[in-house]
Amino acid sequence: MAAVTGGCLCGRLRYTVTAEPSNPHYCSCGQCQRWSGAPVVAWIDAPLDAVRVDGPGGEPAWHRSSERAQRGFCPSCGGTVFYRSDGSALLGITTASLDEPDRFPPVKWSYPGAAPSWLPPLLGNRK
Ligand SMILES: [Zn+2]
Ligand SMILES: [Zn+2]
Repeated sequence: MAAVTGGCLCGRLRYTVTAEPSNPHYCSCGQCQRWSGAPVVAWIDAPLDAVRVDGPGGEPAWHRSSERAQRGFCPSCGGTVFYRSDGSALLGITTASLDEPDRFPPVKWSYPGAAPSWLPPLLGNRK
């Protein structure tokens, strides 16, 4: 597999994934919307131990977004990049932060009913 790489807007937070990502999906939960400022966020999952943070800015900053999870972002530009559930062996990575987001098209949509009504249906499904 070709390495999966990506990073934030300013390029200080960069990462390399050395295992095949899984679970490409959209999420429109209220937390994703508030965190990103967008009506939907596309995600992939990668094994935590297969993700190397390797940009010049070092480690992301983390915001505890719930009792069970944290969200990682670039402390310089605020770019929204990671999601980590406490105790999980997986790390969520925003698909749009990838250098090649075309490689992992979302195949499902979490919390479609929480999206604003003006967002067009994605994947043809909307509850
Ligand atoms: Zn940045
Ligand atoms: Zn979400």
